[in-house]
This record gives sequence, C-alpha cells and structure tokens, in this order.
Amino acid sequence: MIRPFDKPVYVTRPYLPDLKAYQDGIAEIWKNQWLTNNGPVHQRYVKNLEAFFGTENLCVYTNGTLALQIALQGMGIKGEVITTPFTFVATAHCLCWNNIAPVFVDIDPETYTLDPAAVEAAITPRTTAILAVHVFGNPCNLDALQRIADKHHLALIYDAAHAFGVDVGGKSIGFFGDCSMFSLHSTKLYHSIEGGILVFRNPALKQVFAYLRNFGFKGETEVMMVGTNAKMTEMQALMGDLILSDLPKIIAKRKMLTEAYIACLKDVPGINIHALEAPLRQQVYTPNFAYVPVDIHEGYPLSRDALYEKLKTFNVYTRRYFYPLLTDFTCYRGQVAMGDLSVAKRVADGILTLPIYYGLETDDVCRICEMIAGG
Ligand SMILES: *Cc1c(COP(=O)(O)O)cnc(C)c1O
Repeated sequence: MIRPFDKPVYVTRPYLPDLKAYQDGIAEIWKNQWLTNNGPVHQRYVKNLEAFFGTENLCVYTNGTLALQIALQGMGIKGEVITTPFTFVATAHCLCWNNIAPVFVDIDPETYTLDPAAVEAAITPRTTAILAVHVFGNPCNLDALQRIADKHHLALIYDAAHAFGVDVGGKSIGFFGDCSMFSLHSTKLYHSIEGGILVFRNPALKQVFAYLRNFGFKGETEVMMVGTNAKMTEMQALMGDLILSDLPKIIAKRKMLTEAYIACLKDVPGINIHALEAPLRQQVYTPNFAYVPVDIHEGYPLSRDALYEKLKTFNVYTRRYFYPLLTDFTCYRGQVAMGDLSVAKRVADGILTLPIYYGLETDDVCRICEMIAGG
C-alpha cells in the first residue's frame, strides 16, 4: 500500500528566497520611504533584468495580464488576432479587453503550441496579429510563425508567461517576434509575488509602454495617452530581484525532478510523457522545466478525471492545465471564431500537470508516480 502524503502536495508552491535577505531589503525600503512609482529597488531590479536578458528593451509591470494588455494597446493591435485555445484564460481576455476579436485555431500535437498551418489558414483582411503561447515553456515554432507574420504583415506577439529562463540559440526566447510577455506570478517558476515583463524589438515602444503603465503621465502635468495603472511595487521588485540570482539553482532542481518523473513514468502503460521528454531530447533550446504535463490516454486503467480525483485521496493536488479549452468557457462559448480544434480538444481531454516546485524531493516524485502506476 502506498501511503497518502501527510501534508497536501500541490501542483506548485512559490519559491521563497532567504528570509533574512528579504527582511534586509524591506528595511532598506523603510529607510527609502518609497513604496511604488519607479523607486530605487525597482530601478535596481530593472538594471539586473536588462543584464539578464541582454537588452534595454524591456518594461516591468504589476502583473503579466496588464503587461499583455499594454503590449496590445501600445502596438495598436485591432480587429482579429489569431491565438490558441490551449492556454490560461488571460491570453484571450487581454485581447477582449482591447476590443480585439480572438480567433482560435488548433495546436501542434507534439509541442501543444499553435499549429502554423492552422494560423495561416485563419488569416482574414481583419487580422492584425498572431498571439502565440510558449505553453509549458515549450517554444512555439518560431521560424514558421515569423515567416507567416512577415508574409502577411502581421505583428507577432508571444505570451511567454511560462517561458522565463528559456533560451533559444543562446539568447532569451524574448528576442523572438515583436514582443513577449513574461508573467512573474507566484505560481510561475520565477516570480515577483505578482509581476510581468514585456521584452520587445522596437526601441520606440519603450516610452509608450512606460507611459501606459502610469496613466499616460509624462512629468507632472502632461498626459500623453489614456494609460492605466500597472506599476510594480518596491516589495515585488525586491522579491523578483532576490530570486533572479537563485534562478540557476531553481531550474537545476526542476530538471532533476523532471528526470525523476520520466524515469518513474516511462514504462507505465497509458501515460504519454513525450511533452515532458521533449525539452531533454532536443539541443536547440535551453528549457526551464516549468511544468510536468502528462497525457493520460485509453491504455491507462482510469480516465484522466478519475486519476485526478484518486490522487486527491493521496493528498496530491494535480491540475488539468489547460482544460477546458478557452472556447468552452461560458464567456467564449459560441461567441468567437474558431477553426477545427480537434487536436486541442484531444490534448485538453487527456492532460494532467503533476506537482513540481523547488521544495519537492525526488522521493516525493517517485511516490506520486507509484500512486499513478497503481492505476
Ligand atoms: C499566468 C499566465 C498569464 C497571466 O499572468 P499574470 O501575471 O498572472 O497576470 C497569462 N498567460 C498565461 C499563459 C499564464 O499562464
């Protein structure tokens, strides 16, 4: 008999830096008496992020959703935007908040990212951009999407919420397309409590993206555009800054846990782990091991939902990311244009994301896998 965990094991837990270091930073903020609006900790954090990404074309925000809304607004995206139904709802919500119509098309069965052929087939005279998602940190088909964007004069924007720390060909994945949004939410592998970053190609966007997060203000008396409030606080910047130096050890630990999952699950019938193995097999990019997606199919004795429920009885709380598809949510159902979504539907019906976080241990992974193998 496999024993349930004494304490709940969640799909993720936020990484917490050294408490003393955070307390010292808080003391500094107290001394500064400056809590938000581009304070000294914020400025230091931005400098460190610029060094990390290797570009000054970046801007930080209070969360990833507002960052993406600002990207779309600042780039003047309108009409229709082609995107994926297999993502977190915020991706499409950001379009709708800008009065843009999302057009959902199918995904690739291997990477779960947008299928470039489906994207090209959905282009209409109203299409202005592609909003692709590096789902689970798996890079999209970067070359194919860029070719399509160039050919049809479309903007190419990436929701890179899952992809912090992923490098492609020796540079950050943020260098692809016109603009990328990274989420720094606590549930992501790297975070600033709440937070978001835009990395972009056109340096002229820097000023626009900065105006938009602070009501459009330029100085004290001029308002250049209808902005919003999306400023990052000093407490968030402090958290993000402290964790940035821990990123290599966070990713190394996650790699180890991913390898343990692969070793323990590879011979379990009915569990497809190709999405988990893919990052380790290829040499083109440096993965971040953000999620542990497995696909439960007919060969497994239980349905995906039955396994999800069974693991709860062992105190293991997995998530069905990303089920249902966005097109099945009440607010989008019947309201939006979509192509044939048969691959996305199949993936969403079989997907289960398993626990992974810094404090998890290899033994825990093996125990979770035994629970799964037990059927
Ligand atoms: C988390 C997430 C977001 C939203 O980011 P927040 O920082 O939580 O606002 C957007 N897209 C995807 C794919 C996400 O996973």
